[in-house]
Amino acid sequence: MIKIDEKKMFLEIKERKPKVVVLNAPDGLLNKALEVASKVQKSFGVQVVTIANPCYGICDTIDGEAEKLGADMVFHIGHSIATDRVGKRTILIDAMDDVDFEGVLEASLPILRRYEKVGLCTISQHIHNIEKARLFLEENCISVIIGRGKGLIRDGQVLGCDFCTAFEIRESVNAFAFLGQSIFHATGIALATGKVAFMLDPYYKEITDVTPKASDILKRTTLSTYKVLDAKTIGIVIGLKEGQTRLERAQSIKCELERHGKDVSFIALNEINNENLMRLRKMDAFIQTACPRISIDDSFDRSVLSIPQAEALIRLLDGKELGEILQRISWV
Ligand code: SF4
Repeated sequence: MIKIDEKKMFLEIKERKPKVVVLNAPDGLLNKALEVASKVQKSFGVQVVTIANPCYGICDTIDGEAEKLGADMVFHIGHSIATDRVGKRTILIDAMDDVDFEGVLEASLPILRRYEKVGLCTISQHIHNIEKARLFLEENCISVIIGRGKGLIRDGQVLGCDFCTAFEIRESVNAFAFLGQSIFHATGIALATGKVAFMLDPYYKEITDVTPKASDILKRTTLSTYKVLDAKTIGIVIGLKEGQTRLERAQSIKCELERHGKDVSFIALNEINNENLMRLRKMDAFIQTACPRISIDDSFDRSVLSIPQAEALIRLLDGKELGEILQRISWV
């Protein structure tokens, strides 16, 4: 069961005495957030507003919206990194899963032993399990490396677009084991490192080799990159979500494409999806600088490239090799 760190929220409220508090949580935690909202209202007499827009990641903060709601404080729940404050009002709140990994780790031994040296990664909700998992595997004759965190990323942690802890150790291990039930993060590790990756699902005690899925994704991203070579009109979509507005990257990609004679327009959107892009009939293709996973995981009628794909496209236009599109430390 996932437990939101209510204690930290209550302490912050007691200390700072806000009048209005906003809660921002991913879909899976929305109803739990509503329960917390009602506790906060009853215990502290504070007005609480729960945001029901989708919240995709640590980048999807809402200081601006909170200001419109007159809020002094935003609790951004379930997307934690190695800091607890972002922007003017946002406080990051852990949501830890107390599920036990013992069963799935036991079941993984015959598979992981074949690889001898394994890199261990996980997401914030399971990060408290990573050391225990390492000890268990080492006691069972598997050599384990947990990659050091960088900046705001904790040791062994991966985000949907940042794989520094896996990438840096890829040459020292023969495979990766991802602790959790997120195929999204597990395939990301396989794609960013070019190594075999297994997802260790603690709920079903199942081990999934995500490498074939990662290889399908790579084929699709490569194909959609090649398709943009002949595009005449390209829309560069800038994400309007707070942590996704990469204006400088968008500007530099625009300059590069114009150097190759492309007709490039900037477009801004909150939600980048096929439905919204379908309305922009003039464009032959798109590049979006908001979240790479939109391009990598979602389906679109026309090519919608992420930043790494846009960089690969520019290499091709420059007459260079395509190179590795997604094997890199970060996709933003
Ligand atoms: S950019 Fe996308 S993958 Fe990266 S943290 Fe934000 S939502 Fe997650």
